[in-house]
Amino acid sequence: MLSRKPASIAVIGAGIAGAACAQALHQAGHAVQVFDKSRGAGGRLATRRFEWIQENGSEGRARLDHGALGFVARSEVFRAFVQTMQDKGLVAPWQPALAPDSLALEQDLALYVVTPEMPLLCKHLLADVPAQWSFALDRLTRDATGWRLHAGGQVHPDAFDAVVLAIPPAQAAPLLNGLRDDWARFASLVPMQPCWTLMGVAREEDASAARESQWSLARPELGPLAWVIRNDRRPGRAADPGHAHWVVHARAGWSRLNLEQDAGWVKHQLCTALEVFLGHEVRWAHAVVHRWRYALPPLGRTPAHPLPPAPQHWWDERLGLGVCGDLFTANGMEGVEGAYLSALALVQALHRSAEVDVAATKDMA
Ligand SMILES: Cc1cc2nc3c(=O)[nH]c(=O)nc-3n(C[C@H](O)[C@H](O)[C@H](O)COP(=O)(O)OP(=O)(O)OC[C@H]3O[C@@H](n4cnc5c(N)ncnc54)[C@H](O)[C@@H]3O)c2cc1C
Repeated sequence: MLSRKPASIAVIGAGIAGAACAQALHQAGHAVQVFDKSRGAGGRLATRRFEWIQENGSEGRARLDHGALGFVARSEVFRAFVQTMQDKGLVAPWQPALAPDSLALEQDLALYVVTPEMPLLCKHLLADVPAQWSFALDRLTRDATGWRLHAGGQVHPDAFDAVVLAIPPAQAAPLLNGLRDDWARFASLVPMQPCWTLMGVAREEDASAARESQWSLARPELGPLAWVIRNDRRPGRAADPGHAHWVVHARAGWSRLNLEQDAGWVKHQLCTALEVFLGHEVRWAHAVVHRWRYALPPLGRTPAHPLPPAPQHWWDERLGLGVCGDLFTANGMEGVEGAYLSALALVQALHRSAEVDVAATKDMA
């Protein structure tokens, strides 16, 4: 499949897995193109930009990180990557001060955030890679020229030697049907955890400001909220005097139960839960909710959710088809780190087949 070097490779998905994969393949000399259904890179490393008209008629602006809170770096490989990004000023350690009534963090590991906003890490990785946005792949076919990408009834003009899917499993499953039914079946069975997220800017009362002045993160013990974050107190985020920037993630169980509820109802519930947690009224200048259907794979695999056949990625050399992302717990690593390691493992597999293929082509010549 990869007997031509450079090979032409389509990477679907511009989250951390797709971005890391595309950058590594591009640096290895392949002709890589990235496609994503969103308007830019980042995936679940997400930051929402807001603009609204304030009570006094002026324009309010804010940037709120409504996806991954941050990430840890357990493995040597990911630690080295994070250190490089930190040296470039793109990543900063976050040692959040916990709210007094918060549960402790489960792990005693440094948390990292991308500065000043989460998608910049993927944007940086993709700086030299051609990308097409608002391209929602809905079918993959192959003809004599290679892989063809279908989106919205159109076929992309380019044909590719290989395709990498770096997208959540539930979205990968329908694309894999008929190509690798075994992968499709597994991907369709991964029970991704949903998450309703409330984000907004509130006017900060003096009294509440004093009470909350010490902390930037809370993990409530009870109720629908899993995480409460003062986004303006995260590293590299601009302070906004007189305002509190909140990002609030609901628990997976609560989100699943209310997944199809009206957004207005969810917003009301989460605003109330935040007020109960804070112990005072929150006077919003602007707030919205976002529904993550596929926020995280189940943490900690159980016999009911076993590891996929290949522990870090899938690569079908004959087809020239690969899958990576946080579907795979690469060496037990999860979330952003797992997705990154999965991408690198797939790139290595792809390189191995390219070497074999190129050698075989030379032998035939
Ligand atoms: C609320 C929340 C909190 C989280 N907290 C943490 C945390 O604290 N620590 C941690 O490590 N992880 C956390 N995560 C998980 C972490 O964000 C993900 O594990 C990681 O970002 C996954 O990266 P990925 O590249 O595999 O997928 P994604 O980031 O989802 O990227 C996939 C990309 O594919 C695109 N796409 C999907 N389908 C198609 C299609 N058909 N055609 C074209 N493009 C498509 C999407 O638009 C997206 O850009 C959190 C996630 C959420 C949502």
